Amino acid sequence: MSDITKGKAVNTTCTLCGTGCSITLEHRNNQVVGVAPADRDCPVDQVSLCFKGLYGMDFINSSERLTTPLVRKDGVLVATTWNEALSFVAGRFAELKKSHGRHALGALGASSCTNEENYLLQKFVRTAFGCNNIDSGARIRTTTLMAGIERVLGMSAMTNPISHIREAYEILLIGADPSVAGPIIGRMVKQAVKLRGARLTLVDPLPNELEPFSGTRLRPRPGAYAIFLLGLLREIVLQIGVGTELRSYRSGWFRYLRPQLESLDKKKLEAESGVSGKQLAETAKRLLAAKRVAVIPGPGIATEENAYVSGVLMAALVLLTGNIWKTGCGLFPIAASLNDQGAMDMGTWPEKLPGHQYPFDASARVRFQHAWGVAPPPEKGLDYVSMIEAAAKGHLAGLYVVGENPVQDCPDKGAVRDALSRLQFLVVQDRFLTETAELAHVVLPSASFAEKEGTWTSMERRVQRIRQVLQPIGESRPDWAILTELMHRMRVQAPYTGPHDVLREINATVPIYGGITTEHLEQEELFWPCADPENPGTEILYAHVSSKGFVDDTLKISHLTSPELPAGYPFRLIVKESPLHSLDRAAAANSSTVRSHSPAFQTTMNPSDADSTGIEEGSPVQIDSRVGSVECRVSLDERTPRGLIVGTNNSSFAFHELFALADRDPMFGSPKLNPTAVKVEPVLVAPPL
Ligand code: SF4
Repeated sequence: MSDITKGKAVNTTCTLCGTGCSITLEHRNNQVVGVAPADRDCPVDQVSLCFKGLYGMDFINSSERLTTPLVRKDGVLVATTWNEALSFVAGRFAELKKSHGRHALGALGASSCTNEENYLLQKFVRTAFGCNNIDSGARIRTTTLMAGIERVLGMSAMTNPISHIREAYEILLIGADPSVAGPIIGRMVKQAVKLRGARLTLVDPLPNELEPFSGTRLRPRPGAYAIFLLGLLREIVLQIGVGTELRSYRSGWFRYLRPQLESLDKKKLEAESGVSGKQLAETAKRLLAAKRVAVIPGPGIATEENAYVSGVLMAALVLLTGNIWKTGCGLFPIAASLNDQGAMDMGTWPEKLPGHQYPFDASARVRFQHAWGVAPPPEKGLDYVSMIEAAAKGHLAGLYVVGENPVQDCPDKGAVRDALSRLQFLVVQDRFLTETAELAHVVLPSASFAEKEGTWTSMERRVQRIRQVLQPIGESRPDWAILTELMHRMRVQAPYTGPHDVLREINATVPIYGGITTEHLEQEELFWPCADPENPGTEILYAHVSSKGFVDDTLKISHLTSPELPAGYPFRLIVKESPLHSLDRAAAANSSTVRSHSPAFQTTMNPSDADSTGIEEGSPVQIDSRVGSVECRVSLDERTPRGLIVGTNNSSFAFHELFALADRDPMFGSPKLNPTAVKVEPVLVAPPL
């Protein structure tokens, strides 16, 4: 544990988004009183923190923090002791397992937690519950796109460090406004353009802050990123030509994908994507000619219906154009926020065990059986949305939610609230009484990142330390300590005195984290894979492996269509990323300074569309989808394409009311958050009496 002395400054990691900047937190009287970039080399090279990191830390000492465990008695949450709360939780989960079976329990968590805590949570579910019903908020933001990337390249991860973006000659930015959601990446893109003369191709139907830096601007139809990528990859394959010499792995994929892509109808692709054949051909030509291309997909593409296919197509794009396994190029998905990468690495998803190992892989199961004393269950578990659907049908009896807020984060809040209310037992472990915690039978108060030790993995695979700065607020406890105590009470092996013990177990069970020890991290931050303590880590993925070894010939590429608007809903609504998008939801909701620096909850529309609907600048409007409705103000902006309503969320993410929980990515099950069909009408305000 860090040496905590009044008035000291401690180097740690900003955990408010997935960039993971190194920061120094200054503290006095158990309060954070200042924040600055850490006084040491930072791999992401931030010279100043973004406004979120600079102002968002006030959530830590917010007066709204939970300070004691709460248990529901006579319908009301009342304060209780840790002993009573933990005994009740362990006893009730054990009862439900006995009465309803192990598949009737599940857990959601915890992109806001450390790697060690994510590892413990999935271990708790796989050993104490005995099932794979475990997922995290990464499912909503990231996992689907990443799974598509993994299908082709082999790993669900960024290929190169973020700093390599500055060395690219061509940058393809798709569905991302990094100046808003990932400011450090936005800074890298600007530096590449201004200092190196890189050409930026900006692919986004919406106005974008990086527009002044772009050399080429492409505006696909809303919801048509995957179709655009199909058209672009088809052009790339045609331009590569059949006789071209490619390294073996690339040539295997080329031979496999070429006939499938060539068979697609060019005219249909143009019409469906909204990008002309000429623009697709020119872009393909530039990407093939450039020495180093960085492809940066963002939240816009990761939350669309076909995010999995988009991940596949972008991975194939960097592979076939030769922009992989070398410096200054690669695939840089910035959809991840918080510790989404660490949550995926630590097996907080139903499809995978820690270290991206599969539950059906016998050798991985033996490794975990050796460490845990019991083998992880082999069968498929429920993902995030499937657990909520199972709760709605009465098939899920108990749910443990750690640091997540499904009522806020999922589409269709009303349906999610109803589903969670049907659970026989809901436990929420968080720093604040969230909308989900308000429904719980037991609420366990957890410590913020500033009150605990552990490790964190940024979106670029960089593992770094989190150091304790404050004592936990009130009676709150670090998530790892709560999980360890619950495991003891449910008779699961948990021989941990601190996060360092958990990390030691991770070193033994997760080969890509084998050398990422506390001692090694004391000397330097490390990119995984890092197999042993002598290994310096791996900045560039796949550089030493020329082939993944096989081409996945079950992968079928087919034409996609973007759905027509249903009668009565003449507009498409897209929720644009805001500074709140990638931010820790607790900070977004409870930092008064972040809130005051954030945009208003509002929409923009084109003035011509406004004319035809009788809407004026600043009017209050009602927006209805087939699922729900919201009221907000509208501002008129010539840059908003006709037929489109662009929403900016507030900290309660109210636009999620307009999306359906059942609208999910067909390949990987994550909910679709953009776009949706809506109608918009002015709200008549009664004149004053
Ligand atoms: Fe860095 Fe993100 Fe923190 Fe901003 S919020 S300082 S980009 S980690």
